[in-house]
Amino acid sequence: MKEQLTEIIRKVYHKKNRNLFTFLTGAGISAESGIPTYRGVDGIWIKGTKFHKPEEFGTFKYFKENPEEVWQYSLFRKKMFENAQTNESHHEIVKIENILQDRFHLITQNIDNLHRRAGTERLYEIHGKAREIKCSNGCKGIENLPAEIEGKDIDEDLTEKDIELLKCKECGNWMRPNILWFDEYYDEKTNKKFSSLKMAKNSGILFIVGTSGATNLPMAIAETTLKYGGTIVDINTEDNLFTALIKEKKNKIIIRETSTQALKTIHKILQNIAEE
Ligand SMILES: [Zn+2]
Repeated sequence: MKEQLTEIIRKVYHKKNRNLFTFLTGAGISAESGIPTYRGVDGIWIKGTKFHKPEEFGTFKYFKENPEEVWQYSLFRKKMFENAQTNESHHEIVKIENILQDRFHLITQNIDNLHRRAGTERLYEIHGKAREIKCSNGCKGIENLPAEIEGKDIDEDLTEKDIELLKCKECGNWMRPNILWFDEYYDEKTNKKFSSLKMAKNSGILFIVGTSGATNLPMAIAETTLKYGGTIVDINTEDNLFTALIKEKKNKIIIRETSTQALKTIHKILQNIAEE
């Protein structure tokens, strides 16, 4: 596997066109930081007697009916994200970016901000940013979540002040987190849909790390890279929907290791090639 990986990395490194190294990451990369997956059992919000499936709870429809509850949940997650530490995988990716510079791009499905905190600069957060808000009634403009609003414990309610700060200054409706919910579509402004597909087209290699392919833009990114002759490297602990996509294809490498292990290997290979 390592020989094959070295060979393809060297080939793309010396290519003149379609020579980007793109990384696509998901919840698996934050697991070591103690952040549960949204779909995982631990990730499901339980408050009082209510019990929801993520596909019901994580929707704009649910937010419109229960804005306070969804905000409590978001602020509970905010506290969890802020208390989490970046892990070795995040740091290996930064080292790889330092070697590749503008030929490196990272597309993440995570909204936990850990890649940015670790120091990644060329970052596309396709599921949005939990640290930003926008009007749920469609008024234009994206703002930062006001600094006065703090993360909450699971049983903590919103304060009067929180509620006031979470209302749109234009129309008085609730502001909402600037993230993608299950009943919404990817766009360019929040999700970098077209930018990431263009990147996929120009990628010599797409490394898929800690994500199973359950959402449609990541899958389209992988399909685009394949279509234009790029190679897919699937780094996950088990088979997933991306594996099914590439299984019969020539341009693929499947790695069943932890993300940290695999990223360390990739970093080392690149370091050697850059010094050749
Ligand atoms: Zn508004």
